[in-house]
Amino acid sequence: MKATVLSGGVGGARFLRGLVAVVDPDNVAIVGNVADDIEVLGLHVSPDLDSILYALAGLADEERGWGRARETWNALATAEAFGGEAWFKLGDRDIGLHLVRTQALREGATLTEVTARLARAAGLRCTLLPATDDPLRTFIESPAGTFAFQTWFVARGHRDDVGAVHYAGAPEARAAHGVLAAIDEADVIVIAPSNPYVSIGPILAVDDIRAALARRRVPCVAVSPLVDGRAVKGPADRMLARLAGGTTPAHVASCYTGLIDALVIDEADAPAELAGGVRTVVARTLMHDEEARRRLALAVLDAAGTPA
Ligand code: GDP
Ligand code: CA
Repeated sequence: MKATVLSGGVGGARFLRGLVAVVDPDNVAIVGNVADDIEVLGLHVSPDLDSILYALAGLADEERGWGRARETWNALATAEAFGGEAWFKLGDRDIGLHLVRTQALREGATLTEVTARLARAAGLRCTLLPATDDPLRTFIESPAGTFAFQTWFVARGHRDDVGAVHYAGAPEARAAHGVLAAIDEADVIVIAPSNPYVSIGPILAVDDIRAALARRRVPCVAVSPLVDGRAVKGPADRMLARLAGGTTPAHVASCYTGLIDALVIDEADAPAELAGGVRTVVARTLMHDEEARRRLALAVLDAAGTPA
């Protein structure tokens, strides 16, 4: 049973930890968002790919919710003392990974190649793929102006209301090597409980990825990132309210029109008739511990009709 998962960072990573606990990780392929990648202090940082890698390798800091456990911050403090930028937090251990990635990219490796190397070095058995190797970047349009994603999200604490989201580079971007095959050869496709606009949106903005999903012959199941109409963390609920007009399961499903067969929603949300014959499946979607993560993964496979 092969599963391919479209994923952002933290929410996607939580889901993936449950999935690899219930299916053979050798049969899991992950298509990760790269549109919030950023260059910091000369280093290429891929926050979503790294959240996944750290989570699956058991290296993530679960309390802080991002970055690595047992982290220290000497390099960043030193950079700041010497007048370097320090608003984007990079820990010492994290920087070690970014150094290796950045060197490989400068030597001509693709992001796909270097991501595979990093994943292997971290002991991952599943396949971790960036959605694209082409430059694809999310921009947020707000009353205060248009901001690069991390400027809005981190530097401005995502306080500006979002009028529109756009994905620079999307028209030219092609799926990275392995992505279309992973979708075409999957027995089940999952859209993780990630932010529909800034994590999954950029992946679906790559035309050939969207087309591969649209022509699927296997079930595609999305998991809602909302519980009781609210994001567990981050701006997904505010974005849905403004950009989709509400935070019900129907509003979440409207982000994935024509691309999903079922939407897994939380017990706290009201099941609804969804457009396009999309089924709602009710589960407990809060992934607060290992057991909850496993249970959600099993519910998703069950919703797809492919029990583990
Ligand atoms: P990011 O790229 O690091 O921002 O992470 P994602 O886009 O992958 O995930 C962010 C989303 O995960 C947020 O909208 C959260 O509401 C959602 N999320 C986080 N934890 C949980 C959880 O336990 N259950 C559900 N259903 N959603 C979650
Ligand atoms: Ca992200």
